[in-house]
Amino acid sequence: MSPPAEKRLRVGLSACFFHADPERAIFNGRPLLYMERSMPDYLGSTGALVYLLPEPTPVGPSYADYAEDLDALVLQGGVDVSPRSYGEEPLREAWSGDALRDAYEIGLVHAFLELDKPVLGICRGHQLLNVALGGSLIQDIPTQIDGSLVHRDGERYQKNQHELRIEPGSWLSELYGGRTEARINSVHHQAIDRPGRGVVVEARSVPDGVIEAVRVDGPSWARGVQWHPEFSDPEREPELLDRRPLLESLLEAARARRER
Ligand code: MN
Repeated sequence: MSPPAEKRLRVGLSACFFHADPERAIFNGRPLLYMERSMPDYLGSTGALVYLLPEPTPVGPSYADYAEDLDALVLQGGVDVSPRSYGEEPLREAWSGDALRDAYEIGLVHAFLELDKPVLGICRGHQLLNVALGGSLIQDIPTQIDGSLVHRDGERYQKNQHELRIEPGSWLSELYGGRTEARINSVHHQAIDRPGRGVVVEARSVPDGVIEAVRVDGPSWARGVQWHPEFSDPEREPELLDRRPLLESLLEAARARRER
């Protein structure tokens, strides 16, 4: 049964951007903000309310207003983070990412952390969380990591999977009953390089050692996972790490913060 309205947690979801594009027929190429369909299904599966967050405008609500009103922030996946957002130049033009979306999400991250409200970054969101805290990224796994696994396959998409090594004694290991191995999906071509302030590595891919999960040390619950829990189906993909404890942990942190 759904919780009563006043008890429902309110989760803000960062938007994906379609910038203005005269080639795009939908909405005549006008700018759009959107979410991937499985994200609200996953986040809302335990009764939380999910809201897509528009960019603040000079006369509208600010990042701080969203953080004040909502119980948690989730950063969606999507386009690459721009290397310029962590002080580097793109090694190739194709890896330039979206600096406008970065600035918007970095604004959201700081506003929520300022109020000790929980933040979960998924895929790009996991990388963005690291960049917001001063860390850097690997721009392209295949060319920058020798012998790397296939972390992104455009055709297989979320069916692409690999093994995970979870740090013994870590938060993530404890969340999953002390386990240190798991299997997860993988749809990313960038990864965390240098961890940002307070960013602790919780899991890496096997055998190539790509950072796949992080925790941020500090008063806020802030976590990042490089995989896509929203794409996995606990019934049909029992080989994958169960996506439910991660969500429950986020919502538990949100509830604790609300009752503080
Ligand atoms: Mn991966």
